[in-house]
Amino acid sequence: MVQTSHSHETLIGQDERYVWHSMKPYNPKATIVAEKAEGSWVTDSDGNRYLDAMAGLWCVNVGYGRKELAEAAYEQLKEMAYFPLSQSHIPAIKLAEKLNQMLGDEYVIFFSNSGSEANETAFKIARQYHQQKGEYNRYKIVSRYRAYHGNTMGALAATGQAQRKFKYEPLAPGFIHVSPPDSYRDKENVSNPAELSSVKEVDRVMTWENSETIAAMIMEPIITGGGVLIPPDGYVKAVKEICDKHGALLIVDEVICGFGRTGKPFGYMHEDIKPDIITMAKGITSAYLPLSATAVRKEIYESFKGTEEYDYFRHVNTFGGNPAACALAIKNLEIMETENLFDRSHHLGETLKKEFATHLKNHPYVGDVRGRGLLVGIELVKDKKTKEPLEVDLVNQVIAACKQNGLLIGKNGTTVAGYNNVLTLSPPLNIERNDLDFIVKTLTDNLNKL
Ligand code: PMP
Repeated sequence: MVQTSHSHETLIGQDERYVWHSMKPYNPKATIVAEKAEGSWVTDSDGNRYLDAMAGLWCVNVGYGRKELAEAAYEQLKEMAYFPLSQSHIPAIKLAEKLNQMLGDEYVIFFSNSGSEANETAFKIARQYHQQKGEYNRYKIVSRYRAYHGNTMGALAATGQAQRKFKYEPLAPGFIHVSPPDSYRDKENVSNPAELSSVKEVDRVMTWENSETIAAMIMEPIITGGGVLIPPDGYVKAVKEICDKHGALLIVDEVICGFGRTGKPFGYMHEDIKPDIITMAKGITSAYLPLSATAVRKEIYESFKGTEEYDYFRHVNTFGGNPAACALAIKNLEIMETENLFDRSHHLGETLKKEFATHLKNHPYVGDVRGRGLLVGIELVKDKKTKEPLEVDLVNQVIAACKQNGLLIGKNGTTVAGYNNVLTLSPPLNIERNDLDFIVKTLTDNLNKL
């Protein structure tokens, strides 16, 4: 443990001097210097407590303070701290086996450290796979506007949020975007998901780009960071069918949706599909240590088993699949099972949505309450008829007021055209029932003050 006798003010001063924070404009007054955490609660260096209704960055799925996870890592570090996965080690083998059981026994696992790396790995596998089969023109990756897939040059190219990208362009070439379904804004009355405009767009774009140039499509089962966009039933399966028709692989990004976030082991499991590649991170260790994985259908992996040097997958990752991270992940998945956290996520998520829907039904700015499992979005609008997004200052005001009252929530969407208006909740899956009540009351009270 990093012990400190410094006051909160000194720490904030040092933080301002030394630590470069991600994303947000730096505001020392608003910065929480976290010191300890237990269950769903974080305590700062001043002793203030906050209910972390975002589970960090949608990742501390089994909650904070799990001694058994610390012990699993400690035991492994004592036994063997490191060995590269250009060879193998027991925790990686056992974890890959466990993931296979969860996925249905058909996948080979490549380990990395972050969601971005897992996606980069997927893109490279997809491109090389087609080459192994002699389809040398298939390099394009289709992804969706509003999606987030990571901060590296390929994963950012796949990301569909202009404001995160434009300062860093040119990014990796070969990425093209299509529209995701937005069930709140574009209600479509079709009985066949293949008729959804967003599905037809995938088909049209793949056709016009020339099917023979498409390597893969990447998508989250539910767009999370882009504003919790729940697709219409059947959408994911319909997209998979379009990918199959064009000979493109479907990469499902489960970095947030995986490991119970949506009430099932993986988000794609709400529909009857077998993705070609599945990327995962965050919940795999509940963020106790960095680890990510790219699960690849066995036939795809088999195509890399040629005898020539260039048949290998030329992709080395020094830290990927660290033995302690793998040992911890195995224990983490055990906890999820013994505590039935996937079902719990489903049931508590339904409760949370119902409570918000009841309490906020007549709120003038609450346009939509939506979610799946313990992944909930509340879309704020100026006017329920026009659905014009609420100004971000007012959205920020609610978030700041919640924080004052000891509740941490998120804000997501995309700042393009001001669509940064979705309050997000993604608490630990083992959150206590009375903590859910605290979330509902605190957020409702603060929304009512707008
Ligand atoms: N994919 C999705 C859907 C994500 O939400 C994120 C991160 N929030 C990533 C990929 C990238 O993960 P990381 O930050 O671990 O690189």
